[in-house]
Parts: sequence; C-alpha cells; structure tokens
Amino acid sequence: MSLTTHTIIPALHSRFDGIQPDMEIDNVSIDSRSLQNNSTTLFFALHGQNHDGHQYITELINKGVLNFVVTQIPAGAKGKANFFIVDDTLKALQDFAIYYRVIFQFPVIAITGSSGKTIVKEWLNYLLSPDYNIVRSPKSYNSQIGVPLSVIGINQKHNLGIFEAGISLPGEMDKLEAIIQPEIGVLTNIGSAHDEGFSSREEKIREKLKLFRNVKVLICQKNDVVASLLSPDIKTYTWDYTTGADVTITTSQKQGTTTLTVKQPKDSFEAEIPFTDAPSVENAINSMMVMLYLGYSHSLIKERLAGLYPVELRLQVKNGINGCTIIDDSFSSDYQSLKIALDFLEQHKTHAKKTVILSDIFQSGFETDELYAKVAKLLSGHNISQVIGIGETISKQLADYPNFFSYNTTQEFLAHSKATTLENETVLIKGARSFRFDEIVAFLEEKTHETVLEINLNAIVHNLNFYKSLLKPETKIMVMVKAFGYGSGSYEIAKALSHQKVDYLGVAFADEGIALRNAGITTPIIVMNPEHSAFAAMAAYNLEPEIYSAKELKAFITVAQQKNLSDYPIHIKLDTGMHRLGFMKNQLDELIDLLRNNNFVSVKSIFSHLSSSDVPDYRDFTLGQIENFEQWSSKLIAALEINPIRHILNTSGIYNFPDSQYNMVRLGIGLYGVGNDETERQSLQTVGTLKTVILQIKDIEPGESIGYSRRFIADEKIRIATLPIGYADGIPRAWGNQKGYVTINGKKATITGTISMDMMMVNVTGIDCTEGDRVVIFGESPTVTEMAALLGTIPYEILTSISQRVKRVFYKE
Ligand SMILES: *Cc1c(COP(=O)(O)O)cnc(C)c1O
Repeated sequence: MSLTTHTIIPALHSRFDGIQPDMEIDNVSIDSRSLQNNSTTLFFALHGQNHDGHQYITELINKGVLNFVVTQIPAGAKGKANFFIVDDTLKALQDFAIYYRVIFQFPVIAITGSSGKTIVKEWLNYLLSPDYNIVRSPKSYNSQIGVPLSVIGINQKHNLGIFEAGISLPGEMDKLEAIIQPEIGVLTNIGSAHDEGFSSREEKIREKLKLFRNVKVLICQKNDVVASLLSPDIKTYTWDYTTGADVTITTSQKQGTTTLTVKQPKDSFEAEIPFTDAPSVENAINSMMVMLYLGYSHSLIKERLAGLYPVELRLQVKNGINGCTIIDDSFSSDYQSLKIALDFLEQHKTHAKKTVILSDIFQSGFETDELYAKVAKLLSGHNISQVIGIGETISKQLADYPNFFSYNTTQEFLAHSKATTLENETVLIKGARSFRFDEIVAFLEEKTHETVLEINLNAIVHNLNFYKSLLKPETKIMVMVKAFGYGSGSYEIAKALSHQKVDYLGVAFADEGIALRNAGITTPIIVMNPEHSAFAAMAAYNLEPEIYSAKELKAFITVAQQKNLSDYPIHIKLDTGMHRLGFMKNQLDELIDLLRNNNFVSVKSIFSHLSSSDVPDYRDFTLGQIENFEQWSSKLIAALEINPIRHILNTSGIYNFPDSQYNMVRLGIGLYGVGNDETERQSLQTVGTLKTVILQIKDIEPGESIGYSRRFIADEKIRIATLPIGYADGIPRAWGNQKGYVTINGKKATITGTISMDMMMVNVTGIDCTEGDRVVIFGESPTVTEMAALLGTIPYEILTSISQRVKRVFYKE
C-alpha cells in the first residue's frame, strides 16, 4: 500500500485536523500493541466492547505513530499528530477498505457458509497458488473488522483474491460484499440450526446470499432453499451426491482416502482425497468445483487434490525440549501472517531469548528484494535474538542480517547440531507447507504421551467479557488463578488476560505468585494463604498478602519493619459466615488498634467470601453475609479514615447478587467456562478440552471380561478401544465401569471395566474409528459440569485434579 494522507481524507469521509497533510501511509493498524506501528501507520481507534483505541493514542504518538482515525482528539494530543475525525471509526475502516479495493482489478473469490470457510479458503489457496499471485484473508479474518483488514493486504502484484466472510447479525453482509466485491462466490454449507441474532434460518440464509449479489457465478451444493432465495439472474454452478446438479459426485472410501467420481454432462473422472470424514469431503468438493469452473484439466485437478492436507489455523504454543517454548505456525508463510505471528511472539514473554525459524516466503505479491527488505525490517523491530532461514532464497536475501543462520533445506537444518542448541527460549516456527516444518516441530517438541489438555485462550477472554457485561464499567476485576489456574495453567492465562484490564490476580500461595512474577507478569497479585515463612519473599516480589488474623498482621508488620517498607498494600479478610479464614466481628477492635497510625502497611482492600452464592435455598444467608460485610467494613473505614477497595462476590456471586459488586469482584470458575445454571452456561465458552488417542482396538467375544477384577463381562460381541489415560492423570476411578463416557468421532463411547492407573477401555461397538483417532475425555461432551453431576462432585475438583503430567496446549484462534 502506498497512499498519502491528503488522498485518504475523502475516502474516510473525515475532517482533517493535523500537522502534515501529505505523509506517506503504507500500513493500517487497529492494535496498539502491534510492533508494526510506525510513522507510516494509519491507526484506527476502534471502540470495542472492552477496549477503546482512543486510550492508546498518546502512547502511540510517543512511539512515533502520526496518523489516527478518531471520533475525537484525546486531550493533549491536538497538534501532535494527524487526526482524521469521523463519526464512527469502524465504518471509516470499512469505507477505507472499499476505497482501497476499487484501486485493484482482478478476480476475487468470496466464501461464506456456516462452517468450512477457512478450510476451503486455505485449500483453494493451495490448489491455485502455482498459477496465481494470491491475496487471501489471514487466519479466519472474516468479520466486520477482519474483512477490511484482509482487503487492505492487497498490493499491485496480486492477481487473484480469496476472502472469507462471516456474519452474526442481520445487515452485516451488505458491508462485506461492498468491501470484497467478489466475482466468484462459494457457499460452503448452510447449516441446520437457526442461529442467535437471526429470527429464522431463512433470514440467515437470505443474509448470507447477499454476498453473492453481483457475482458471475455461485458455486455450491445444490439446495432448494438456496435456489428459492437466490435472485434468478445469478448464475449457479452446483454439485450434489444425487443427479440433478451440474456435477454429480459419488464417493467410495478405503483406508483414509475417499475416491470422488465426478460426473459432468459430457465426461467423468475420478480423483482421490486423503480424508474420509464428511465435512472434509464436502470442503474438498467445493474447492474442486472452483478448479473445474476455472477450466483446470482433470489430470491437474487429480494431482492437486491428492495433496490436500489438514489445515491448522491456530498458532499453537507447545512445550519444547531444553526448556524451550515453541510457537507452531508451520503451515503458512505469507507476509500478512508473518506479521501476526511476530506480534504473537512479541506478546509471549516466557523467555527473554527469541528465535525465529523461517522458510522462503511465497505469494507475497512483492518483488523478491522488496519482500525480504520488508521482512528484515519486521524482524529487526521485534528484539529477536537469532533468525534461522531455511531455503535458498531467504538464505541469500537475509545473508547480511545480524545473527542469521541459513540452511538450504529442512533436512540440512535438522541434521546440523544447531537444532539441538536451542535452549530456554521461545521459538517461532513458520514456514511454507512444502518445507515440511512440521518435522522441525516434531523434533523440537517435548515428547510426552498423546494426552493433552487443550486450553482455548479466546474462550477465556470471551468468558471474562461475559462477566464484565454483568458489571458496572468501573467495577474492578480480580481473576483467581490459584491452583495452577484451576488446572488450566496460571501463567498462560495471566498472560492472555494482561491486555484485558484485569486489576488483580489471586493466587493461593506465595510460590504461585513468584512464578508469575518470574514469567514477567506485572499485574498486582494477592496471595490468599500467605505463610509467615514466605513474607520476605512476598515483599521482594511485590506480592500483596491477604491478612486474616491479628497474629498474622503482627508478623507481617514485623517483616515490613525489618525491610524498611512503608505503606505496603495489604488486604483485610473478614469472616462473615464462611468460617474459613478472616476476622470475626469481635476481632475488629483489635484490628483497628493494630492498624491505626501504622505506616508500615496500608489497607488496599477489605473483602469477604460468600459460602453459598450458588445455592438458591441459602439466598437469605448470603444476603446476611453481605449485610455483615457492609457493616463491618464500614466500621473499619470510618475508624481508620481510609478509602479501600471492597469486594465480596465470586463467580456465582456476580451472577446472582450483582447489586453487591462494590468496587471489585473476584472471578474464578466462570472464567474457565463453568457456570452454575443453564442460562449462564449458554453464555460461556468451553475453555479446557482433555483429549487423548486410541492406542489399540480389539474385538471381544461374549463371556470375556475387560480390565482389572473382571468387573465387566461382555454378554454379546463388542469392540473396545484402549486409551492411554487413567486415574493417575486425574480421571476419577468412579467414572469407569459403565458410568462415564468419552466422545470419539462425534459418538459416545462408554467407559467399560475398571479405570487403571494409566489406561482405560471404552466400548466402540458401532463407532467408525481406528487406532490413532482422537478421543475427547471432556470438553463439549461430556462437559465438566455433566461429569461432576454424575460423579457427585463439583467441576472445580475435576479441573484441578488433572495431573501435571498431562501436557497443556494453549491456543488462540
Ligand atoms: C477461589 C476464590 C474465589 C473464586 O471463586 P469462584 O467460585 O471460582 O468464582 C473468590 N474468592 C476467594 C477468596 C476464593 O478463594
């Protein structure tokens, strides 16, 4: 992109208030944290649900950003930068994308549908890239913000665009159509559910079809509802499994592959794809239809379809060997996604040392020299300790880059000792598919068994925002990450939340807080069970104690005195009815005496904990606790003449007693996706999914027994699968013996026989599965809540019992 400020004033429909009307703009940003922000950035200050881009403008000006699209100029910023003033910054971003899109004339494919959009987009990119310079949406950028950002990635060298569009509300597609301006449409599928935000399924389909208003052709599976809603002057090119469509497909499957027989009116051919599941087959057919439409030969279609691969859309964070952390982005290497990956690396502060392993980059749309100059500039902005380039082009192009090591092929790198020298660092692995960087990931990844607890960091943020929506905007939030983040990994969660305006983190013990500090977390941290022996360390690491007794307070004051501390923040815990820790009513006077005129500590907050905020029958009891809290805390405040934060609500407190939010709440279990009633659960997203794989499958004859103590005897022929997960991983033994189930390929498989220490058996009779297939122990089904109910326990216990030997894998969409 290369535009000047004065040309974009009208494109944004803006009023200009600035210092220099003809500056060069060569990139657009909406994220204040992006390291690509510089003097040629046009920054759009968007109003999010929880963020307001305007807040970061002063900081960005200090970092050298000079061009801002705003609704108003923040105080003190006038005259220091160029401002484009508009009524609505999101609309301005969209208008800008429309303006920019019109500059380019080449065919664009637009994809929408209920599922499969991103996979079809990635596959089309793979299938067509030998013949076109393609620009495509990065990752799943398909929203009202993602689509404009995708389109702004176009440059002069591109000659084909592939963009996906997703909507959640009526009226949104018109905008996306205007921004994408597609010539070829692909409708992946229309789903069966009628979605939230739309009054009927028909309304949703009607809205989706608006994307295809002006296309030359719409490619989709033949569908009567679509046909009836589509304007008659839109030409379609359809396929179906039965006759009646333009192309008829029949399938046959064997050992992991599907053979498609493709019949057209005049001829027919066969092609194989390396998948058997229905959604992949459908996505592959839709992709093939585009090739057919574009006039590809049958032999080329056949050759390329055989190379389809599973699409991994997420940047995955994995534990590596020698204490490394690996960010795995081994399936794509375009310039747009390199920017995203580098920003992700930057935000990942586990290790000071950072290595980037990068292959030759394809399809950037830039000339080779220009591209690698841009790449070198990107890399140098990110404090990267070393860059390992693999491929002949990058080896040559970055030869002069400091700390650059080059190899011609992936095999050459893996054979070299360099690969084993990586230690205690974060390693970003990013390469084009043809370089097979998955082999580097496999080499560097810590070898553990196949059982993993996957943590969806987007879901954490979603759940936080749900609870925020129940609170007043000014109410502070403390997030409880005790017990290793309820089993989910406290550091990664603290990290994921560090840009979400969380005011405090709560841990149980000092060492948990120290670990967070060592990992670079700077958010204030309260230690709920501070032990006297840890007081000195707490002061050294800036950890704030919960004070629950006079004895503890005296001990802490002594340490504060010895260390010459003054006004050290402490948090007073009142026992209003839980009867666990805290000052009781008759101890308040002593507390006041100790605190009055004491300069070593300062009361940062006063709080109490509800014992039964989730139990409707004890509503009155809870109101009594709240009343006690009100009176006792008011007494302390008056006697000490202080103005502390007050807080009493935990997750179910927020949900059931929002009137008592005071100045802060303490969010725990809800963040991890567990709510206490059905409506609350529907607003939350699943955070943790415990997965394993099938180790072995065997057939069992009637009369034979399964597992220890012969507690299950087959009364008919059954097929069982053995899974490498047992009670030592934290699966309760009580979940075995026909009580619990796991999910395999979408079907329930009952746990059969006794659960052993490291293994268990499940009944897979009638389930289409093979050894190596993925198994969900809990997640969407069963949910932890469902498991807990059947086992007579609570979700907290199940989550925190998952053993530390189970690898945690964190991902972001
Ligand atoms: C664990 C804990 C919370 C959070 O409780 P949830 O029910 O998980 O929301 C809040 N306050 C205190 C003192 C806690 O120990």
